[in-house]
Amino acid sequence: MKIRKINCPYCNIEMKYISTERIQLGRTGWIALPVSIYECPTCSKLEFFRYKK
Ligand SMILES: [Zn+2]
Repeated sequence: MKIRKINCPYCNIEMKYISTERIQLGRTGWIALPVSIYECPTCSKLEFFRYKK
């Protein structure tokens, strides 16, 4: 998979790729989306991208 270069909109520094996980939407959890997670090392803002093959 591709790792994106994205910047934190608050700190204007590069965000760090964490991992790709399946997250559940809704309480029943019957929809699971694979998402790539990025985190800003300074302010801990999280950014999610839908994972596509
Ligand atoms: Zn930040």
